[in-house]
Amino acid sequence: SKDSKVALVTGGNRGIGYELVKQLALNDFKVILTSRDPDMGHEAAQKLKESNLDVSFVELDIGNQESIRQGAIAVSDRYGRLDVLINNAGVYLDENDKLLNMEPSVLEKTMATNFFGAYHVIRSFIPLMEQQGYGRIINVSSEYGAMSEMSSPGVGAYKLSKLTLNGLTQLVAAEMNGDIKINAVDPGWVSTDMGGPSAPRTPKQAARSILWLATIGPEGPNGEFFRDGKRIDW
Ligand code: NDP
Repeated sequence: SKDSKVALVTGGNRGIGYELVKQLALNDFKVILTSRDPDMGHEAAQKLKESNLDVSFVELDIGNQESIRQGAIAVSDRYGRLDVLINNAGVYLDENDKLLNMEPSVLEKTMATNFFGAYHVIRSFIPLMEQQGYGRIINVSSEYGAMSEMSSPGVGAYKLSKLTLNGLTQLVAAEMNGDIKINAVDPGWVSTDMGGPSAPRTPKQAARSILWLATIGPEGPNGEFFRDGKRIDW
């Protein structure tokens, strides 16, 4: 409807992100599907529009600060507001190497997307929330980012990127004023390109376990970490 809230999802062209866009639109949000690849993004948005969903496309490469800046300008021009921001885009580049044996570029690229990408997106889009004193930010993290995971070897680049994303979630939460809330969520093991075909959860189930955080009220959580609606340890 005319005064629907506006939501933006990063990495919306496939996997969990695509399902998040769809579910938000089915729940009366105007949704901005973003993708780094304009062809894939347009195609994904078009598919949802054909089901009469209010979805539009904005190009956003979260590894590129200029792309993020342009994306924020496009959203401001087109909608003049942003109510929900979902930092979903992420990469999993670890092979089987230990942290100190891997090509350092694997760690750098993983951090550039999963941590700095989310950081720059929040930084560029939060003024749209501050101007209305309302916003809900959700960082799609992973149980691999939990502190307890740091004492076992492997998947080091991915783990560190989600650990720092979790830290970012808490710091930004502590620094927010007004009714702006930011939380992290672990979607579980989900059948996507990243999760692989043997994962037990569908993207639809994952989206449901994430999206309740998009509509929490002023008394809702801020700076917390969830799986299936329950608080979990950082
Ligand atoms: P997919 O690999 O299926 O999709 C990843 C999405 O992120 C794609 O849309 C991809 O775009 C996008 N992306 C990657 N880099 C960038 C970038 N620089 N700019 C913009 N978009 C980018 O992953 P999932 O859907 O499974 O994962 C979504 C989130 O959920 C991730 O943060 C992941 O870490 C997290 N997660 C997933 C789990 C799982 O089991 N699947 C478990 C726990 C957490 P493109 O198509 O262009 O590559």
